[in-house]
Amino acid sequence: GRKFFVGGNWKCNGTIEEVKKIVTTLNEAEVPSEDVVEVVVSPPYVFLSMVKSLLRNDFSIAAQNCWVRKGGAFTGEVSAEMLVNLGIPWVILGHSERRLLLNESNEIVGDKTAYALSQGLNVIACVGETFEQRESGSTLAVVAAQTKAIAERLSIWSNIVLAYEPVWAIGTGKVATPSQAQDVHSELRKWLHDNIGAEVAASTRIIYGGSVNGANCKELAAQPDVDGFLVGGASLKPVKVPAIIDYP
Ligand code: 13P
Repeated sequence: GRKFFVGGNWKCNGTIEEVKKIVTTLNEAEVPSEDVVEVVVSPPYVFLSMVKSLLRNDFSIAAQNCWVRKGGAFTGEVSAEMLVNLGIPWVILGHSERRLLLNESNEIVGDKTAYALSQGLNVIACVGETFEQRESGSTLAVVAAQTKAIAERLSIWSNIVLAYEPVWAIGTGKVATPSQAQDVHSELRKWLHDNIGAEVAASTRIIYGGSVNGANCKELAAQPDVDGFLVGGASLKPVKVPAIIDYP
């Protein structure tokens, strides 16, 4: 089976004091064991070392981005090698905020994913359509193109989690309905089946992100192709997080 996966994407939020408070609350949270649920928190780069030193060791850590290739003269960037060197096992790539606000193309996200995997990182690769794309009926074409650009650059799928995050659901309180999420997740799994293979399709976790909270997570988690969550806003309120982690 696919182990349930709950990621907390803190985005560009937090002070030292706030981060310590979140970590303390998470450390004290009663949640199912790591054999049942994989929990990964994603602080901004500057807090990665601190969170690594403070966070309980059954929870893991993701960076929110990394440079597309080997490090060097790229002012302001952080390389995959540095994350590995720091002992950070995961990186989120292709988040819609970076695709839309920082113009990251499907090709750049694919290149980043392939490079990060080649350095030994695990990748949470994000895909998702805008409201206009959904309205015009192109949701599946959009997420398939995003997935294809990643897929054609890699050969091994064991260290990648796909995150379906419809842009219209992110930070809006307009969570996808369980059937909207299930529809896209099952199409993504079918895409993997038809284009990569049955084994990758069956084993790759496809998680949902966009206005997930303690109240709406259970019904989403019950969908057969929803293998976990990438949580934004609610992950900054960690007293509410155990409800999201507490699955099944
Ligand atoms: P919200 O949970 O705040 O909608 O954010 C989702 C998200 O973008 C996670 O990566």
